[in-house]
Amino acid sequence: MVVGLTGGIGSGKTTVAGFFKEKGVPVYIADDAGKRLLETSAEIREKVTALIGKEAYSGQTPNRKHIASVVFNESDKLEALNAIIHPAVAKDFESWKNEQNSVYVIYEAAILFEAGGYKKCDINILVTADKAEKIKRLQQRDNSSLEEIEARMAKQWSDDQKKKLADLEIENHDLSLTKSRVDELHQIILKRGKN
Ligand code: ATP
Repeated sequence: MVVGLTGGIGSGKTTVAGFFKEKGVPVYIADDAGKRLLETSAEIREKVTALIGKEAYSGQTPNRKHIASVVFNESDKLEALNAIIHPAVAKDFESWKNEQNSVYVIYEAAILFEAGGYKKCDINILVTADKAEKIKRLQQRDNSSLEEIEARMAKQWSDDQKKKLADLEIENHDLSLTKSRVDELHQIILKRGKN
């Protein structure tokens, strides 16, 4: 079984993914895979250079900040970039999944709902937190400004939109409660896996 895991920026999805990992569940982080493929796949490098321009790479190293700033302001380029990266990540995920030996695996993706990846998952989990809490965490973690954070948040779907598509929710406020919720969901998912 594939369990999708998502949440807005700063909601704590990677933290939650870590709790599943501690329980022995294999975790695939789509955003990390995308970054890795951007760096290691010659085919992707060629396509991204054609889309963004030569400044997209310094040698074989992607200039992530440049790529991000181009696509942040041009939605058609963002779509085109996603059309290059997403199929490669999907293929990479499939081969990773086939190597795993467990009742279920976690597929963590920031835009699981927005990009439609949730349709390929058997169960989808949404991690939520209050907006003020998310902002505080991101300011602490990334040293980002409030304007930057709000601009990134505005690009994502609202939690209300995501809740309509999610099967299960984890409210991530107090970490020990979040951990207990992960224990609870782990048992629920294992049971579903047996049916
Ligand atoms: P992004 O999409 O921006 O990568 P994310 O949803 O994966 O974010 P995390 O990286 O897991 O979120 O968490 C954001 C920051 O908040 C991290 O520094 C993390 O340690 C912290 N954090 C996560 N959950 C909590 C919590 N319940 N209480 C306090 N801090 C938390």
